Amino acid sequence: MPIQLYNTLTRRKETFVPLEEGKVKMYVCGPTVYNYIHIGNARPAIVFDTVRRYLEFRGYDVQYVSNFTDVDDKLIRAARELGEDVPTLANRFIRAYFEDVEALGCKRADIHPRVTENMDIIIEFIRTLEEKGYAYEVDGDVYYRTRKFKDYGKLSHQSIDELKVGARIEVGEKKEDALDFALWKAAKEGEISWDSPWGKGRPGWHIECSAMARHYLGDTIDIHAGGQDLTFPHHENEIAQSEALSGKTFARYWMHNGYININNEKMSKSLGNFVLVHDIIQKHDPDALRFFMLSVHYRHPINYSEELLENAKTSLERLKTSYQNLKHRKEASTNLTENDHEWIEKIQKLHDEFVKEMDDDFNTANAISVLFELSRQANYYLMEKHTSEKVISAFMKEFEDLFSVLGLKLEVNEWLDEEIEQLIEKRNQARKERNFQLADEIRDQLKNMNIILEDTPQGTRWKRG
Ligand SMILES: [Zn+2]
Repeated sequence: MPIQLYNTLTRRKETFVPLEEGKVKMYVCGPTVYNYIHIGNARPAIVFDTVRRYLEFRGYDVQYVSNFTDVDDKLIRAARELGEDVPTLANRFIRAYFEDVEALGCKRADIHPRVTENMDIIIEFIRTLEEKGYAYEVDGDVYYRTRKFKDYGKLSHQSIDELKVGARIEVGEKKEDALDFALWKAAKEGEISWDSPWGKGRPGWHIECSAMARHYLGDTIDIHAGGQDLTFPHHENEIAQSEALSGKTFARYWMHNGYININNEKMSKSLGNFVLVHDIIQKHDPDALRFFMLSVHYRHPINYSEELLENAKTSLERLKTSYQNLKHRKEASTNLTENDHEWIEKIQKLHDEFVKEMDDDFNTANAISVLFELSRQANYYLMEKHTSEKVISAFMKEFEDLFSVLGLKLEVNEWLDEEIEQLIEKRNQARKERNFQLADEIRDQLKNMNIILEDTPQGTRWKRG
């Protein structure tokens, strides 16, 4: 059975057939690097990394490109506030991004193109749109002539007239039509800028993805992905730009992940409930966060809370414990083959079920249920008096393969030791300063991580509970 995936463009599940047999060209919109990423940014990183891993597991050669928006209004503002220049700020947060998502088990893309390193490609793209009559310049700004693109609105399923209602011309904008959007912005006094046929300036946001996707993957890509909030206007505008230029289909399958809520509330600046990945992974196993994200279907909304993350961690530990038990019993196993084939068949059946669930629009939530059944069967098998090396190895291999598809680790993270010692250090400091409330909080936090402290005259000792 081939993979079925939900295509936002057609609003239905379709059989996935890449343009070129065995190869998948995939583009995922990346972050604007002016701050640490929040949990909302972590979701597409994890979800589409899992899609990529699964496609690779199914034998596809995946070319994965994900951009960095390293210049825009937010970066310019943040750099000004911090008194540093835009490239310094961008580099810092690109490093932080890699640290965060790698902790979450995301592989690097084959290419992570940056806007500032692809300026010639972007300018050339805009110039071609201008030649074709899809773009026009006004006082150093360049706009896209939206109405000229007849299919505008096809991704977000809105008509031009519906869109017109929400569109407006901001003060200072000199565009022909409220629906038009900026491809190039003339530089304001003191802003970072690049030379172009329209004078000094920088690209608008949407154009970078069209230009870089085309440059690194070609006119037509297989899968274009991103968060649901990018469907309109970002992805709609990407289609308008790319298809106007090439006359070909830009992306054949559009995938969007659902929203994330924090304690049942929308995450927003005004509510002050932005949860940074950087902060979560100081306190919690990053693997648990990945597991939590994958425990809900990627198109559904997901609600985050510390409590739900703790629950995810406990569930994940159960799976890991099964694997560790298999590992321990392997040494004491025998070569008995009495009912081996029955068990091997059972494991194969669970493998097939996992594949079936993942084939159905990457249903990680159901795939994880299959993992729990695998764990249940493994535990049950270990209750037998005589265990066969062959069956134990088959169980272990299944755990290893399926965990790897989901990007999860089976072993306990090594770095946790260091983290524990830092926390103990912090607690000792708090005690010295007679801040017993903080000291107790840290003790409780460690207790939640299953770490038991023992205060001795020689200092604090710890062990895993
Ligand atoms: Zn994009």
